[in-house]
This record gives sequence, C-alpha cells and structure tokens, in this order.
Amino acid sequence: MSAEVTIVEVGPRDGFQAIAPIIPTERKIEFACKLADSGLRRIEIGSAVNPKLLPQMADVFDVHTAVRNLRPHVALSILAPNRKGVELALAHGVEEIVYVLSVSESHNRSNVHRSVAQSLADFVDITALVQGIADFRVRVDLATAFHCPFEGVTSERAVLTVVERLLAARDDIEICACDTTGRASPWAVREFFARCRSAFGADRPWAFHGHDTYGLGLANVVQAFEAGVRVFDASFAGLGGCPYAPGATGNVATEDVAFLFENASVSTGLDLAGLVAVAGQAATIEGAQAGGRVKFLSPAQACRSGITATV
Ligand code: ZN
Repeated sequence: MSAEVTIVEVGPRDGFQAIAPIIPTERKIEFACKLADSGLRRIEIGSAVNPKLLPQMADVFDVHTAVRNLRPHVALSILAPNRKGVELALAHGVEEIVYVLSVSESHNRSNVHRSVAQSLADFVDITALVQGIADFRVRVDLATAFHCPFEGVTSERAVLTVVERLLAARDDIEICACDTTGRASPWAVREFFARCRSAFGADRPWAFHGHDTYGLGLANVVQAFEAGVRVFDASFAGLGGCPYAPGATGNVATEDVAFLFENASVSTGLDLAGLVAVAGQAATIEGAQAGGRVKFLSPAQACRSGITATV
C-alpha cells in the first residue's frame, strides 16, 4: 500500500479537558512541544470556552501562544463552539478554528446549549466573521455523527441535512465526523464516508474522530481509511474519557493509530518511539486515565524509529 495519512493530535483539547486536576500551563506546553517533536504537524491545542464551565481550558491562549512561538511549523487549532469563542480566538491570532455542533438535537443542547438550527445559524455568522482572513482554516467537528447517547443511532438524513447546510455557508471546510460515544460500528463508519463522499464530493477534506470506548476505535479507523478518509484525530495515550461511560477509555490513541498505519506501510510521518515515550509520560498526569495499547516497540521497530534497542 502506498498512501499517507495525517494524524491530528487532539490530546491537549479532548484529552486534557477530561482531566479534573488542573495541569500546569508549562506542562501543557511541554507536552505539545514533545508531540510536535514526534512529528505531529496538526495539534488541537484547546477550547475557547467559558473557563467557569471548563477550568482546565482557562489558559488555552497562553498555551497556544507559547507553542506557536516554540514550534512555528505546527498548525495549531482551537475548538470554538460559538461566536464568542471565535472572536477570542481571532483576537489571539489563531489561524484555525474547530467549530463543533452535534447532528442530534439533544446532544447539541446538552453540549453547546442551543438547538441544531441555532448552531447552524451561528455558523453562518462565524463564516462571515472570518471571511477574507487570508489562509484562515475552518474545520467542523460533527459530534454524534453516528450515535447519540440520548437518541441512539443518528439518521442518515439528519447527517446529510447538516452537512449540506454547513457547506452552503462555506465550502472549503474540513468536516470531521465524530464517533462521540464510541458506538459506531466499523461497517457504519465505512458506509457513512462512502455516502458523504458520493453526496458531497470525494475530493473535499473529510476526517474521522474515533473514540475507543468499546474497543472499536482502530477497526473504525481502518474502515474510514478504506472509504477514502486520510485525516484522523487521535489523542496521545488515548486520553479523553467519555462522560457517558464512566471508566471507559477515551480517543483512539495516537501511538496506536500510528502503529496501525506504519505496519501497513501507510506513512504517518510520525516517530513512533517518540510518541510511545510521550504517551508514557501522559500516564503520569494526575487524574489522567491513559489508554492505548502500544506501550513498547519491538527491537526492529525501535531501531527504525532511531532509538537504541536494549537487546
Ligand atoms: Zn472526542
């Protein structure tokens, strides 16, 4: 197989926000730099949300500014669920926002406190706000694209309607379908992307955000890849718990996804040994629940990755 994929590191956002004890700003910066040094070229560095609701993200712009200065070659994004968040991001020189809305009504109301129609209307406003900013990138995270914790399986019609409305507002967006609950089946993931690519164009950028809550994370990644997706979200050490499944692991782990693709000769551009090391350090964060399976490398892989094997 000759192909390459891009892994978007979402640990500093999806992972850290699930951790209650506040991680010192310096440590967040240090982790982001180590992730960049492991080859990651896109990092979702945090969320621009009300710090009273999510105190872990109160220093998001300090982290953003520091990492941008220390690793200027890495594309950093900030998740912003509303206009206020986008305005704050713009004021801090952010060059990529991740707008989030859920396909299902009840999850959108519980997650961003408004109806899906209101989120879509806000998106139109936001696109007007950022229009004309050179090289500004907009990604949309479609939460509950497959399954909603309140409503069950998400209907195909609801997905297509939301995507159509988003693309009508701005057509150069990257759309990331999120398996928020980890309950999407691999067949549903493949079908989802096949349907979206045929309805809206195979050339446009699609991405997949999987959670490993029920152990289907990597199987879903494979099926998204088979359906043509080449951008995958992942979180180092699989950080990022699921609020609806206490004790469950979080996102697919960056090191697992990298291992999967590198073993299939699909290039990720990542240094697996570096990733395994930084994932190991993530497990020591107070309050973190580390997942991920790739915790050591075979001697051959370690050599390929440039570290000395201890054999
Ligand atoms: Zn997530």
